[in-house]
Amino acid sequence: MSQHLFQSYQPIAAIALTPSAVRILSPFCRSSGAILHLSASLAEQISHSEPKQIYHTSLKDHLAAIWPHYQALVFGVAVGAVVRLIAPLLGHKTEDPAIIVVAPEGQFVISLCSGHQGGADQLTRLIAQQLSATPIITSASTQLNLPSVDIFGDRFGWRKGQGDWNGVSSAIARLEPVQVIQEAGSTLWQNNLPTEHPFYFDLSDDVSFKGRIWISPTVRRFSETSEIAKVQWHPRVLWVGIGCIRGATMAQITAAVEQVLQRFHLAPKAIAGLSTIDLKADEIGLLEYAQSSQLPLKTYSAEVLKTVAVPNPSDIVEKAVNTPSVAEAAALEAAKEYGKAVLLVQKQITDAVTIAIAQSELEYIGRTGYIGLVGIGPGNLDQITPAASTAITSADVIIGYSLYTDLIQLLIHPSQIIESLPITQEVQRAQRAIQLAQWGLSVVVISSGDCGIYGMAGLVLEQLSLNRWDGKTPQVEVFPGISALQATASRVGAPLMHDFCAISLSDLLTPLDIIEKRLEAAAKADFVTAIYNPRSKTRLQPLLTAHEIFLKYRDPLTPVAIVHSVYRQEEEIFLTTLEKMLESPIDMLTTILIGNSTTFIHENWMITPRGYLKNF
Ligand code: SAH
Repeated sequence: MSQHLFQSYQPIAAIALTPSAVRILSPFCRSSGAILHLSASLAEQISHSEPKQIYHTSLKDHLAAIWPHYQALVFGVAVGAVVRLIAPLLGHKTEDPAIIVVAPEGQFVISLCSGHQGGADQLTRLIAQQLSATPIITSASTQLNLPSVDIFGDRFGWRKGQGDWNGVSSAIARLEPVQVIQEAGSTLWQNNLPTEHPFYFDLSDDVSFKGRIWISPTVRRFSETSEIAKVQWHPRVLWVGIGCIRGATMAQITAAVEQVLQRFHLAPKAIAGLSTIDLKADEIGLLEYAQSSQLPLKTYSAEVLKTVAVPNPSDIVEKAVNTPSVAEAAALEAAKEYGKAVLLVQKQITDAVTIAIAQSELEYIGRTGYIGLVGIGPGNLDQITPAASTAITSADVIIGYSLYTDLIQLLIHPSQIIESLPITQEVQRAQRAIQLAQWGLSVVVISSGDCGIYGMAGLVLEQLSLNRWDGKTPQVEVFPGISALQATASRVGAPLMHDFCAISLSDLLTPLDIIEKRLEAAAKADFVTAIYNPRSKTRLQPLLTAHEIFLKYRDPLTPVAIVHSVYRQEEEIFLTTLEKMLESPIDMLTTILIGNSTTFIHENWMITPRGYLKNF
């Protein structure tokens, strides 16, 4: 499995006290990169290859030593013992590591502490999926199927501002009316709310609110005595354009930026990044400021900057650096990379530094995007691989055809963004996935069956290659699924035991003459043949042609399986022969398997000999 899925919880420690707990936790350690912590005596009893840390003190002392260094601790230890062990170490939920307990048989995974902010709930879901265990999550918003107010902005790189987070969370948990005033940042989080939710988005709503969520680059001061619990999230939409004299110090720049932000009531946490002219790319004070505030610094040439329309161009600046504006133009130019840009603060001049601030339409997420290409299997959730379902659960965005997003509804939780597009819009789906991943989100694109067999995987990779993708950013991973031909075969026996091939009869993307050529070749070469996309309401001819071609080369009594909606509720299975195959119902949710010259039926089981018994 992919370590990417567990990236945001690293570093993770797994703690086991018995060999059986080591056995349960080992696969998780291998796939997540978690470090297994073992006492010296336990380490002697077992052999394994995971990264491990051996301690020689008591577990209590060892935990105290490692507590500040891990984001998550996963225990294969009884809940009662874990509670006693961690009790003296617990500080505040914003700082404590996520605490998770895996039950001794691996049947339950419990989110014990730091559920929201520490990410324990989400990590619990991921581990449970991997172990095919039941996740036990007791936080209120999870029960209500609502996004948690204290984390839902994280995926967009928003930063939490001041406020009464407990107050607003409790109001939401009680389903009391909460007003949302969103002045910036993505509204995609609103799209997947359950029908019953406490949020009011319309400013004209006249309701007696118990909570308010501001989503804005502006800082609000909340009165201590207000009846309403309020919080603020700051999407990173501010681009600070900076001009400065040679040798301006970090202290001068810091002071100038802080002053301007304060004067205009803007939140430092809403800063996306800094920008300036390329001549300043080596300005030490500026570089130090960018580094210490962990902000990206974008630089532009004078040629670019002078094309930007600004309210306060200056002749003096133009004479000095060949563009009439540095701060305003650089702020706007950087903001423009993230959608429409508006100059929020015109240039403010102090002795050494000039500052202007532009607001971008889209927030800066500040992460490298990811695309998971996921096959969800033929239907029922028990036919999906744990790796695929973990990828789905950990994604920010799930893109797929609505029939498939419905099939995986149980894996999806409310703060995830679901984008279902109609079945014909594959290219749009691929482009959307790339766009969101390039922005910094982690996206999964789902296909039924296997994503790389007549699925979305190839299309997304093709599109990426057209976008001059470097193969790394966004990071891409492919998660295989059980394809219709395997699922179909499993329901009728073992027809694919010898060489086989798959042919799609859809002529939407493949010219008919090529389909015919391949049918001829497969029929002639005696391949067991799986027919995908056999017949639509309007496309009848290719199946008739396929039938004719196979009859030319194969016995009319060759066994044929016709399976409709395999592993779904509407599943129907017909075992028939080549000559009679067209008498069974066949549609676009059907896969046909035509046996080879040795395939036979025994008591309704379709069997293709591999050849073992011939030499026996
Ligand atoms: N990626 C998919 C194939 C998509 S092409 C996979 O690997 O299975 C769509 C075709 O797949 C359908 O026309 C049908 O022939 C087949 N198919 C997909 N799901 C199916 C199911 N549940 N039962 C039977 N056939 C199915």
